[in-house]
Amino acid sequence: MVKILEGIGCPYCGCSCDDVRVVVSDDGKKILEVENACAIGTEIFLQATNHERITRPRLRQPDGSFSEISYEEAIDFAAKAILNAKKPLMYGFGSTTCEAQRAAAQLMEIGCGILDNCASICHGPSLMAFFDNGHPTCTLGEVKNRADVILYWGANPVHAHPRHMSRYAIYPLGFFKGNGFTERTVIVVDPRKTDTAGVADYHLQIKQGHDYDLLNAFRMVLYGYESDIPEMVAGIPKQSILEVSKILKGAKFGVCFFGMGLTHTDGRNHNVDIAISLMRDLNAVSKWSIMAMRGHFNIAGPNRVWCWTYGFPYCVDLTKGDYAHMNPGETSTIDLASRDEIDLFINIGTDAAAHFPIDAVKKLKKHTWITIDPNVSMAAEIADLHIPVGISGVEVPGIVYRMDNVPIQYRKVIDMPEGMLSDEEVLTGIANRLEELILEKAKICSPDSSEPISLESVICT
Ligand code: SF4
Repeated sequence: MVKILEGIGCPYCGCSCDDVRVVVSDDGKKILEVENACAIGTEIFLQATNHERITRPRLRQPDGSFSEISYEEAIDFAAKAILNAKKPLMYGFGSTTCEAQRAAAQLMEIGCGILDNCASICHGPSLMAFFDNGHPTCTLGEVKNRADVILYWGANPVHAHPRHMSRYAIYPLGFFKGNGFTERTVIVVDPRKTDTAGVADYHLQIKQGHDYDLLNAFRMVLYGYESDIPEMVAGIPKQSILEVSKILKGAKFGVCFFGMGLTHTDGRNHNVDIAISLMRDLNAVSKWSIMAMRGHFNIAGPNRVWCWTYGFPYCVDLTKGDYAHMNPGETSTIDLASRDEIDLFINIGTDAAAHFPIDAVKKLKKHTWITIDPNVSMAAEIADLHIPVGISGVEVPGIVYRMDNVPIQYRKVIDMPEGMLSDEEVLTGIANRLEELILEKAKICSPDSSEPISLESVICT
């Protein structure tokens, strides 16, 4: 008899939809049907029972081929690589649970390395703007129930977050918005005619890289300086700016969702900074929130977990031993890689090889590269060691932070293939083995010491 599981979380994008219904075979080993998820989310679930899946670690051989090894051997290899590295770096975490992110932090503390996550190449500038300017925000539940004006700035959820509009922002029937999309005004700011722009009431086709100018123009209108605005700002006619300003000011509950199109165009964190200032100004006359369209289903997770632990959301440098510090540009992965400072790269829960500039990949690849990931990705294919793990959110339960920073407990849908480990188990195993190796090394270096050697006294020395 098949099992029907309701209220399952989707392990793909930052919407972290937790209303998925999954039909599982009676032996609990195969996913038969997935309902409510979009096409991308469905694919992630079905991939769990892909016959070609790699279920054991693979170690690169001198002739370039991979050879299967045991998890114990893989853990030992990784622990020794960290022990011998001067500056190891662990990067990724978008598709891991918070439990694994905590275990990674513990491992890099012992290994005296750098911890970084995908925010380093996506919403890092947004997080810096949040430090500088704070940010008024809300939950996606509030958006669904209350929002009457939705502003997508540099984001294309139709493709990147397929259920964002249908589940939260535009189409759902909310408690105070019982007529769904007919009660909401949608504004899209994007240089391209995206599919999201296609469903908007207003599409401001901004000149690329001029976001700051347009945001400033909206602020000028709010401050009563509209006569000083030129006839055209950032490719947008003054008349449209005035028209849209009126809608922004008249919103009962407006939300600005911004994506890479704002964060990664000229100005970066300053763009987000002025967008936040615009929200603050709007809150003097109406009610507005702002939210980053986070990419992976738990990329908000490492930001939260490491903020509790170290006070920093990404680019966390633990090489000093006693304290952590963060300085994007100095301690960020691409910059460290470009300066060839990293002599061991551990890629986990993302595909750095596919997303990094080729120069950074080449520099990282000069040294040992370990990939911990369920998938056969580019990062897995170029690795010296690939450790496959259970799929978080499908085979591995855990806490996940949705894009609005609401934590959600993800449940297990099916078991991992027999003998496989989760990423948390692998990271904890490496940390335990590394502790053993560090103590063994300390004993060899001080053979005459009569005092017992504590781990704290020898790490990062
Ligand atoms: S929108 Fe995102 S989280 Fe929701 S089902 Fe699609 S991929 Fe999964």
